[in-house]
Amino acid sequence: MAFIMKGTDVAQVKKQGIIKRVEALKERGVSPTLCIIMVGDREDSHAYVKGATKALAGCGIGCHLAHYPEDISEHRLLEEIEAVNKKPEYHGIIVMRPVPSAIRWEAVEEAISPAKDVDCITAQNLAGVFKGDTDVFYPCTAKAVVDMLDHYEINAEGKKAVVIGRSLVVGKPLAMMLLQRNATVTVCHSRTRDLAEISSQADILVAAAGTPGLVGPDFVNENSIVLDVGINMVDGKLKGDVDFERVAPLVSMISPVPGGVGSVTTSVLMENIVTAAEKK
Ligand code: NAD
Repeated sequence: MAFIMKGTDVAQVKKQGIIKRVEALKERGVSPTLCIIMVGDREDSHAYVKGATKALAGCGIGCHLAHYPEDISEHRLLEEIEAVNKKPEYHGIIVMRPVPSAIRWEAVEEAISPAKDVDCITAQNLAGVFKGDTDVFYPCTAKAVVDMLDHYEINAEGKKAVVIGRSLVVGKPLAMMLLQRNATVTVCHSRTRDLAEISSQADILVAAAGTPGLVGPDFVNENSIVLDVGINMVDGKLKGDVDFERVAPLVSMISPVPGGVGSVTTSVLMENIVTAAEKK
C-alpha cells in the first residue's frame, strides 16, 4: 500500500506559520482581510464563501463579501472592483467564477490590482509564474501541489512529471512550476492519445482533469507519486480524478480526495493574503 500524502497534515503545519504572521501583522495594526466579489446567487459560490470565511477566521484573517445582483453591468462591476483595489482595509481580492455571461471574464481579470490578486488571475502575476519570478502570487491550487511535494521532501529535479489538465488555473501554471524545479514535464489533456501509457511512465503524476476516476491502474507504476487535484461530486460524495481504491495499492505515494491537495489550497490562499498585507 502506498504512503498517503495527507493534505490535512500539510495544512496543519502551514496554519501555525500563518497564525504567527497574522499576529505579527496585528501588532503593527494591520488586520489581513480578503474581499470576495460575488455576482448573483450561485449555491456553490455561497458554499465556497461560507467555507472560506470559516477557514480564514481560524487563522485570524478577515473575509468581506462584496455581493452584487446578477444583472449588474460589466461597467458597474469594474467600477466596484476598482473601488476595492483602492480600499486599504482589503489586502486580497478574489472573484467568484463563473460571472454572468453579460460580463467578460477577461475584463474582470484586467481590473484586479496585481498587488491584491491573491488567486493569480491577472496577466502580470501569471507572467511572473511563467518566468519563474518568486515575487508574485502563485495560483493557489498549483502552489498547493508543489507545497505537498516540498512537505513530503519529494525533489522533482530530473523526474518525469505528467500533468493531466491544461487549464490556466491548475494545469499550465503547475507545469511551469514543475519545470522551474527541473522536472521533465509532459502536459496531457482531453485530446491526448495514449493517456494511460504516457501517465504510466511518470515519476510524478498530477491529475487535474475534473473527470472522476480517470486515473486507473493502467496509469501508474510501482514508483509513481500520484497527486489528485480533482474535486468531483458523484452521487453526493466528493471524488477525485484518481480511482483511489484500485490505484493506491499499486503506487509509491498518493494523495487522497478529500483530505489531499484541496486541504492545502485554502492554506496557500491565506499565505497569499498575509503576504499581500505584509507587502503593504
Ligand atoms: P478545467 O475544466 O478548466 O480543465 C480541465 C482540463 O483537463 C482541461 O485542460 C482538459 O483538457 C483536461 N481533461 C478533461 N477531461 C480529460 C480527460 N478525460 N482526459 C484528459 N484530459 C482531460 O478544470 P480545472 O479548473 O483545471 O480543474 C480541474 C479539476 O481540479 C476539477 O475537478 C476541479 O474541481 C479541481 N480543482 C481543484 C482545486 C483544489 O483546490 N483541489 C482547485 C481548482 C480546481
